[in-house]
Amino acid sequence: MNRYSIFSLLRNSVNYHQDWQRAWRSPDPKREYDVVIVGGGGHGLATAYYLAKECGISNVAVIEKGWIGGGNTGRNTTIVRSNYLYDESAGIYEHALKLWENLSQDLNYNVMFSPRGLLHLAHNVHDMQEIGRRGNAIRLNGIDSQFLTPAQVKEMVPFINLECRYPVMGALLQPRGGTARHDAVAWGYARAADAMGVDIIQNCEVQGFKIENNTVTGVETSRGSISAKKVGCVVAGHCSVLADMAGFRLPIESVPLQALVSEPIKPILDCVVMSGSVHAYISQSDKGELVIGAGSDLYNSYSQRGSFDVIEATVGPVVELYPIFSRMKMLRQWGGIVDVTVDRSPILTKTPVNNMFFNCGWGTGGFKATPGSGNVFAHSIARGDMHPIAEPFSMYRFISGALIDEGAAAAVAH
Ligand SMILES: Cc1cc2nc3c(=O)[nH]c(=O)nc-3n(C[C@H](O)[C@H](O)[C@H](O)COP(=O)(O)OP(=O)(O)OC[C@H]3O[C@@H](n4cnc5c(N)ncnc54)[C@H](O)[C@@H]3O)c2cc1C
Repeated sequence: MNRYSIFSLLRNSVNYHQDWQRAWRSPDPKREYDVVIVGGGGHGLATAYYLAKECGISNVAVIEKGWIGGGNTGRNTTIVRSNYLYDESAGIYEHALKLWENLSQDLNYNVMFSPRGLLHLAHNVHDMQEIGRRGNAIRLNGIDSQFLTPAQVKEMVPFINLECRYPVMGALLQPRGGTARHDAVAWGYARAADAMGVDIIQNCEVQGFKIENNTVTGVETSRGSISAKKVGCVVAGHCSVLADMAGFRLPIESVPLQALVSEPIKPILDCVVMSGSVHAYISQSDKGELVIGAGSDLYNSYSQRGSFDVIEATVGPVVELYPIFSRMKMLRQWGGIVDVTVDRSPILTKTPVNNMFFNCGWGTGGFKATPGSGNVFAHSIARGDMHPIAEPFSMYRFISGALIDEGAAAAVAH
């Protein structure tokens, strides 16, 4: 793999940038791998990368039915944070945030991680109590978190309307939170994993599993049968479809979640602002577009698009809070299929089938966890037992009742 650097940029400029290597190969599937990862989103690619880099297992294939990053990884609003309520969540999201901080250097690929600060607004007494409880819990876990008065919010976002129908009573700030470039994350992991020998196989759908004596021995795909000693499924909104193929059920609902971006404008917003109660969250991309997250539809679907009423319910509060944006044009709107659990926490788990592992249930907020999730999932697959950070997120918690209820911390879909 050619290292990307200022020198390689200069060297290639001599030839008008005609000689760049392909970032990753496009191999035909081999007959057998040590590990097959189903799903070429950020989490699947990160798993493959850490399997090769940290666990010494590079005979790995990532099988993707479309193109890598074409699922929720390339459709999200790119918010990264670790300010969740419970210790278990602090464990995994903070592990991820620490990996984000050096990810561009680690992958030799600019994922444009931008820790620009993230505000959670509080609009009523309940919100104030929620951010009070969560803010203190976050600080007890050693994670950065500050309470802001309305005046301090105004200092950070001078054009915000504090006295609107949803008055701003305070906010919780995570200074290390921010955004990253979503598809660069998929491409960076793909390139680095490929360089260590991982085969990334696109346009190849997993249509079934080979299971003998309750142990997985491979996958049936649209490009033939592939044997594998272990299989990791990381397919987000389609996880219950894959679980069904393997003969068990997951406590997951798949719903469309949508987002929209405006026409680009000059820099105006240099932090991320979220508001759970009125469901408005907004940031500005490097291109200048306002990136606005909408809510999820209230019905199950695999349609990768959302309903119009959800857009209306999102844009209304945005305009109330930021009247300055009221005449902006929206350029694009899209949806992704998110895999939601009842406690709004993910599932990283062994399954009823031996050597088959699932990583899913990230719902509306898994982008931020990509490096941490891939890292602990790789170690779990390699050792055949869940990594301590992943352990509490087993699918069996829905039987034992040991739920990790992050409903409030995940209050708005992001
Ligand atoms: C509109 C929107 C906004 C969001 N905003 C945020 C945010 O701001 N911050 C945040 O942290 N999270 C956010 N999320 C959630 C986040 O995007 C996801 O949790 C995360 O990207 C999931 O990554 P993944 O790799 O698990 O799944 P995906 O990226 O969806 O990858 C799964 C892959 O599996 C493939 N696949 C499915 N079935 C098969 C099969 N049978 N065979 C082979 N391949 C298969 C799919 O094609 C897909 O590429 C948002 C999501 C949406 C939709």
